[in-house]
Amino acid sequence: MTKRTLFHTTPIYYVNDVPHAGHAYCTIASDALARARRLHGDDVFFLTGTDEHGQNIERIAREKGVHEQDYCDQVSGVFKALWASLDIQYDGYIRTTDELHKRGVLKLWEKLRLAKTPDGQDAVYRGKYAGWYCPRCEAFKTDDEMKQPGNICPDHERPCEWTEEENFFFRLSAYQTVLEDLIRSDRMKIAPESRKNEVLAVVKQGLQDFSISRARVKWGIPIPDDPSHVFYVWVDALSNYITALGYADDSPQYQKFWGQDAERMHIIGKEIIRFHCLYWPGLLIAAGLNPPSRVFAHGWMTKDGKKLSKSTGNIIDTKVLADQYGVDAVRYYFLRETSFGQDWDFSESGLAQRYNSDLANDFGNLVSRSLTMIAKYCDLKIPAKVEEGAELRVNTESVFAAYEALNVSAALTEIWGYISDANQWIVQTAPWNVAKDPARAAELNAFLYRLAERVRVLALLASPVIPSSAGKVLDMLGIPKESPARTSAAWGLLAPGQPLGPITPLFPRIELKKAAPAAEEKTHTVNDDKELAPTTAPATDGPKQSPPLTTTATAPAAPPESELVGIEAFGALDLRVARVTAAEKIKGSKKLLKLQLDVGGVPRQIVSGIAEAYEPEQMVGRTIIIIANLKPAKLMGVESHGMLLAATVDGKAVLAGFEKDVPSGTRVK
Ligand SMILES: [Zn+2]
Repeated sequence: MTKRTLFHTTPIYYVNDVPHAGHAYCTIASDALARARRLHGDDVFFLTGTDEHGQNIERIAREKGVHEQDYCDQVSGVFKALWASLDIQYDGYIRTTDELHKRGVLKLWEKLRLAKTPDGQDAVYRGKYAGWYCPRCEAFKTDDEMKQPGNICPDHERPCEWTEEENFFFRLSAYQTVLEDLIRSDRMKIAPESRKNEVLAVVKQGLQDFSISRARVKWGIPIPDDPSHVFYVWVDALSNYITALGYADDSPQYQKFWGQDAERMHIIGKEIIRFHCLYWPGLLIAAGLNPPSRVFAHGWMTKDGKKLSKSTGNIIDTKVLADQYGVDAVRYYFLRETSFGQDWDFSESGLAQRYNSDLANDFGNLVSRSLTMIAKYCDLKIPAKVEEGAELRVNTESVFAAYEALNVSAALTEIWGYISDANQWIVQTAPWNVAKDPARAAELNAFLYRLAERVRVLALLASPVIPSSAGKVLDMLGIPKESPARTSAAWGLLAPGQPLGPITPLFPRIELKKAAPAAEEKTHTVNDDKELAPTTAPATDGPKQSPPLTTTATAPAAPPESELVGIEAFGALDLRVARVTAAEKIKGSKKLLKLQLDVGGVPRQIVSGIAEAYEPEQMVGRTIIIIANLKPAKLMGVESHGMLLAATVDGKAVLAGFEKDVPSGTRVK
């Protein structure tokens, strides 16, 4: 087998916020690919990192009153800590504020500013850019992209600003034919196929030149020809893929992993495919460098059928899940549940089901039965070696091919097929009966050696996705740290006579009832003088299949239909952010406070039963959430126009609020 060279990357993640589940999803899949290819014997460099420049970072740092670099250091540190906790084994971590990166960008610029297009024009020119600009996206928006009225950015729900400036432009339009040929010929292979067609459709519409600098932004890499400009994200961020390898110094590592013979691959989310399949190869070709050879775009995660969004609270906290179910279980569920490339819907009960059925039951049981039998019948040692035998031969190349195609769910389906076959094989062979007959000792020995090898190979094949559990299996088999039996799936590497390690449960079963709510949102109660029912809808994702081989597990019961409300019922409530301008106790009531509110500039009065928990002085200036379209009511003779949201803890109200400042009048949904 020839040793191949793979360089692959995640996108670099923007430090405008801490990591979310989408980042974790992409990075876990990239890590699994790296591990699978290393296991297959390839030379791999897996890169991730953070994108740290631009107007957004400038703004956030200003708001927080810290230096941009300190802010970037902090958030980049959060990403690194998460990757460590999720067992991500990268070979390089690039930050766009690294000196190595800055030098690389300047070297690339030297090539670009002198470059000629295929038809002999300057590849870079000065031009005027004008348009509607969303500073949060750091992008100009077309009329089609904005919501009307008000030229609103659909991603940020804020108005775009009309912006005009002189910029440096890259003449992408002159690379139309070159790029189309690169894509059609599969010299740059775009997968899944639907994404390739999407990019070709964009090419067909005619490629537009794009701006590669920004005036007015200071937090970035200044352009030597005009230091009042910094490089815009297309040059600053995309170039990380080569600067990280040492492009600035033409290092041996760069030559090897971005060389003609290397697989130069980007794994990205589908929303940034144009930039990776058109802008980036365009820039590289202009600079006389190799374009990527492969781009893979994955789909989006939703939760309970809805887009993940911090503002609506529909989030998946990977860290919380990993703490509850184990890192390997999260990695496994993310990659097993849906073919990588497709959109998919996360549900915690689905994760719990997979944990119990695939990990605890199928794989965990196989390992513990096998090792228990070897311990019992072979005196805690690996039995004498035999030839492979036809039963349950594992087609390792087929599994590696699925990993290589980033069809991780197919690789896992195949491995779990072998696991299930092995469990059946044990039942059919009934080694406990074979052991009763001394004349069949050789048969028993052969069966147990083959079984031990199957377990070892299946653990290895699953190790890209569940690395720490696979490592535990190899430890239980007693395989020394330096043994090739830990890194090669070739037959017969288990050494006969080798003592087993201590046998420990691999995936202890979890009680589904307890497991279910870990990362669900907390419910709050609407509280007024009288307590009302919780307003959040209960989770509706019931179990997909009944848990096998157990009588203890209880799935979360789906609430009866009549208790569920449709989204329209929730939408009928007008929840608003309000600021308390004045507060006083109501005479004759221990519980009630009269609050004067500002709701987006409109005054309003409500009465609320929070006086036992909050003094009037504590309330003034506070931001609260109210139901604004509640029928007016009179409490102790005082008019109340709406009610506020609070939870009740030990009989006392705790107000609902926001983690950041939100303008009064904002709708809560
Ligand atoms: Zn925006």
